[in-house]
Amino acid sequence: MDGIGENLEAVRRRIAAACARAGRAPESVRLLAVSKTHGPEAVRAAAACGQTRFAENRVQEAAAKIPECPDRLEWHLIGHLQGNKAAPAARLFDWIHSVDSAKLLEALDRHARAAGRTVAVLVQVNVSGERSKSGLAPAEAPAVLELGNRLQNIQMRGLMTIPPLAEDPERSRPYFRELREWRGRWAAELGTQLPELSMGMTHDLEVAIEEGATFVRVGTGIFGARARPAPAAEEA
Ligand SMILES: *Cc1c(COP(=O)(O)O)cnc(C)c1O
Repeated sequence: MDGIGENLEAVRRRIAAACARAGRAPESVRLLAVSKTHGPEAVRAAAACGQTRFAENRVQEAAAKIPECPDRLEWHLIGHLQGNKAAPAARLFDWIHSVDSAKLLEALDRHARAAGRTVAVLVQVNVSGERSKSGLAPAEAPAVLELGNRLQNIQMRGLMTIPPLAEDPERSRPYFRELREWRGRWAAELGTQLPELSMGMTHDLEVAIEEGATFVRVGTGIFGARARPAPAAEEA
């Protein structure tokens, strides 16, 4: 677990510097520590350094890990969610960033109600149109956002995207910018607030912050390289 504290400090400095350059308040960006493939001891080490928000991309892995972690951490699901895992997802996670259908949203609402809780939701938008990426096409998103506003045990909070994999962080910028522009348009059309934009990972978090990210999702930058090759940013 050596190095997690230093890594966290370095990521926090990157976030603070990007906020300063962008003229944003540092507390307007929240850091999610992506603990996928790492065990509860890594989560405990990060939590001991003051990290409270964690993200996982698979329900099964999270179900085994979360009970082994300190209480009162906030858990976010950032990977593709299958309908048949909506029940455990609605119990385990405080936030779900990867909602990509009306049917899934309705299932989450039902299971959240049964569990006596409310789940904060982001709609994943496939801005790039890449076939390999999950997420809703922009044309399909407003109907799901509108449904989310009507469901009792769902809090519709905003949008998430994953740009195509590219080494140069500047390549992510047009996708981040487009997500922010859609957010403005849809919030106005629906007359609601969509305050959260979940975008930016280890290599492109500065660009994401410049384009308005409120959640950045950082795995490698905090926990180091993943042993098992996690199918980059897409997993059931
Ligand atoms: C794994 C993952 C991340 C973190 O990626 P790093 O490059 O390790 O920071 C972010 N978002 C999603 C959706 C992921 O699956």
